[in-house]
Amino acid sequence: MPTAAGKTENGKPVVGILALQGSVAEHERALKRVGVNTVRVLKAEHLDGLDGIILPGGESTTIGKLLKLFDIFEPLKVKIESGLPVFGTCAGLILLAKEIEGEQPHLAAMDIRVRRNAYGRQIDSFCSRAVIPEFSGAPLELVFIRAPWIEKVFGKARVVAEIDGHIAAARQDNMLVTSFHPELTSDITVHQYFTDMVKARMKDMRGKDAETEA
Ligand code: GLN
Repeated sequence: MPTAAGKTENGKPVVGILALQGSVAEHERALKRVGVNTVRVLKAEHLDGLDGIILPGGESTTIGKLLKLFDIFEPLKVKIESGLPVFGTCAGLILLAKEIEGEQPHLAAMDIRVRRNAYGRQIDSFCSRAVIPEFSGAPLELVFIRAPWIEKVFGKARVVAEIDGHIAAARQDNMLVTSFHPELTSDITVHQYFTDMVKARMKDMRGKDAETEA
């Protein structure tokens, strides 16, 4: 695990994984396979120097409370709103939504309305397969665990995947969300897609730095 000082070591992007609760090791494994350095984010200073961040699955209510308890909530919201690439899976998707049915939102950053535990108790966990052209031409294995779905996108958000009539992935500028868990499969396609978002932002930032220096 690189330390804060080692974040930019060997020029690889550095992606933080919010590590308050949820599937952290699985995201680390996937990111390592796509050639990214990872940092576990447990306090606000771990956000410094990150090129992107993953908000993993877990329980959104708990993660939302822990974000405040550990004073990460505000700095994280500011970073996301100023363009830090973020990938929210499942509970992470819920944390990013501007609207949650019947509840107050958390980070309220993304123009989506979500319904928690939308698939109901009986089938609250299941696997499916589908081609999501934005990610790949090959079918992806999709793992849903007490998953939300996106009721609607509005404003600047757009649908990336609709599975069986429900929106399961969306994108808005620097934000990507999936209601399923790509980190629980051996397929790194979605992590590769997110890493491309991270690299594009790094290139943009370098361009801006060069302009300032010129
Ligand atoms: N059911 C959880 C929630 O509402 C999300 C489940 C998950 O992240 N796998 O927060």
